[in-house]
Amino acid sequence: MQGRVCDRGTSEEKRVPELPEVETVRRSLARLIVGQTIVAVEVREPRLRRPLAADFVATLAGRAISQVERRGKYLQVNLDNDQVWLIHLGMTGQLVVGPPDEAPRRHDHIVIVLGNGQCLRYNDTRRFGLMAVGSEAEVAAWTGLGVEPLSSAFSRRYLWHKTRSTQRTIKDVLMDQRVIAGIGNIYASELLFRAGVRPGCVAAALAQPAVERIVKATKAVLREAIRHRGSSISDYLDGEGQPGSFQSRFRVYDRQGQPCRVCTTPIVREVRGGRSAFFCPTCQSED
Ligand SMILES: [Zn+2]
Repeated sequence: MQGRVCDRGTSEEKRVPELPEVETVRRSLARLIVGQTIVAVEVREPRLRRPLAADFVATLAGRAISQVERRGKYLQVNLDNDQVWLIHLGMTGQLVVGPPDEAPRRHDHIVIVLGNGQCLRYNDTRRFGLMAVGSEAEVAAWTGLGVEPLSSAFSRRYLWHKTRSTQRTIKDVLMDQRVIAGIGNIYASELLFRAGVRPGCVAAALAQPAVERIVKATKAVLREAIRHRGSSISDYLDGEGQPGSFQSRFRVYDRQGQPCRVCTTPIVREVRGGRSAFFCPTCQSED
């Protein structure tokens, strides 16, 4: 199994897996680990973004896995004692299930032996991932996430309300995890292209029809990306070690200078606050 799918040297931003990638990992992991008991937990490197809690192994060992859920960019593994094992993949985290005799890879920081003999391995080159175990209420407080974009709570009315009293751009609002959970740079760029709105527009200045288009485009782009198992442009692999394919369908992200797939105008890359925004100056209007 190879550790790195496609590390694009041209992209200055190591990216965090967004909702479609985490959802794809969730689906593949759910098939492989739900119903399994955690027989053993081996921590080879406890220093992730934050060090693992001293009782991390004790809170997991012996528990059965009842469900694998997702909130925003987080995985939430529900245990049979109503505790939740919270996982954020950081920038380079991979959770892959494989046979026990597989040779350990560099950066396999946590190895979990399941009741069926298979091993769930957490590999994270940059160690920017996060793991903790707590009650559902504790986990919600730790993450402080806004609404799920694919739920009915993310509506035209909700986004309209959230955009009225802010000086921020629409892209910044869409990427604010406390407002909407799960969207990062790739999907914010892609959905704003589909909505025909420039990423640099001041959110409060958007009219009702634009807000409605953004909500519809958000749901459509995320669903389409999930169907294609997410985008593999960095270290992302799903629970079976497979990459996604949505990156071949990008309309604007990482396509600066290339012709717009709709109107052939060259795609523009604009840097704001250290982050790149990509848009078509013809298809996307400023208001
Ligand atoms: Zn265009």
